[in-house]
Amino acid sequence: MANLPLKGALKDEQLEIHHDGGILVDQGKIHRVDSYDSLHQLARKEDYEMQVLEGDHVCIPGLVDSHTHICFGGSRARDYAFRNAGKTYLEIAKAGGGIWDTVTQTRNSSEALLTDLVRERANILLANGVTTIEVKSGYGLTVEEELKMLRAIKKAGTETVSELIPTCLAAHMLPRDYDKDAESYLQLMTRELFPRIIEEGLASRVDAFVEESAFSPEQILPYLKSAKEMGFSITVHADQFSVGGSQVAIDCGAVSADHLEASTGEEVKKLAASDVIATALPGATLGLGCGFTPARQLLDAGAAVAIASDWNPGSAPMGNLLTQAAILGAFEKLTNAEVLAGITYRAAAALEVPDRGMIQTGKRADLTAYPTDNYQDILYKQGSLTPSLVWKDGELSFDSKKDYA
Ligand SMILES: [Zn+2]
Repeated sequence: MANLPLKGALKDEQLEIHHDGGILVDQGKIHRVDSYDSLHQLARKEDYEMQVLEGDHVCIPGLVDSHTHICFGGSRARDYAFRNAGKTYLEIAKAGGGIWDTVTQTRNSSEALLTDLVRERANILLANGVTTIEVKSGYGLTVEEELKMLRAIKKAGTETVSELIPTCLAAHMLPRDYDKDAESYLQLMTRELFPRIIEEGLASRVDAFVEESAFSPEQILPYLKSAKEMGFSITVHADQFSVGGSQVAIDCGAVSADHLEASTGEEVKKLAASDVIATALPGATLGLGCGFTPARQLLDAGAAVAIASDWNPGSAPMGNLLTQAAILGAFEKLTNAEVLAGITYRAAAALEVPDRGMIQTGKRADLTAYPTDNYQDILYKQGSLTPSLVWKDGELSFDSKKDYA
């Protein structure tokens, strides 16, 4: 992925493929990419530690999942069954389902339990080659419960090799047990929650769900502007069922606008002209059985397109980034280069960590190796080809031959 542009369409011919290559790593960073023979010679001369991959392998950058909700208690298997049995959103909510169900189950989970759950899910992603994972709060929806979630994410980050990047999603929905209006809730979070997050160093990103069922653009803009003034980076759940969110993202200088399934040509054009990264979440499409983000259109218009799993208990329970990205590629007609860019350096840009996602001198040595002699197999197998080895900051962190149970 070295030297590829952040925005726009990519051809597979733009991928730089090293046959019989080697990577020299120093202090967690990629120091040199060269032929196996020359690095092997150098390693012997300088007495460097060597890891030789026996048999056919293709090594690509460690994957980046830039949008997840893996901090949650309970399950929503019942919602999934109800939805597929034809029940409406309202009927599911009446039966006690929906986001509020997860809020209740997450509030009933201790910080220690949530920490365990986040660590376990992060390790599942790590075994699938994902070395950087964004994790949102948003199932607490009170000052204390949001803090509990963010503390659990921070703690889990010290217990897994994958790097966790936390995001405050207190504006996920107006909590049902809050007795005032949306504006007062958002003001309360700005006033009481944000300073605590800064004080404890729990997150540097704020997200909001802009949707008819959550918050309107008018309600959310002042909230996101205040967050920005307090030093937070902004990301938005935008244009999932109705448009409006992507404009909010552009207006408040967000780093990314995620979902975009409902975006029309107009939103696509505006996003492409902006610095906002457009993030497709095919896991939500597969979970809800609705349309995909218009990734082809976005790329052709010149947008930067990232792809993330949106792993959450309601609409995206699968949690397999590579499978989802490969399927998005098949439906949207994306090149290998475009899909791989979406789950590596373009997703890293959406998290403002441009130090990873490419096998290039100076980048972090986050790497994943697949047991094949053809890089095209990685997406062709649609996620069923899993990594044999994963490195984070140059350290071997996952080996499929080892038993981690
Ligand atoms: Zn989401």
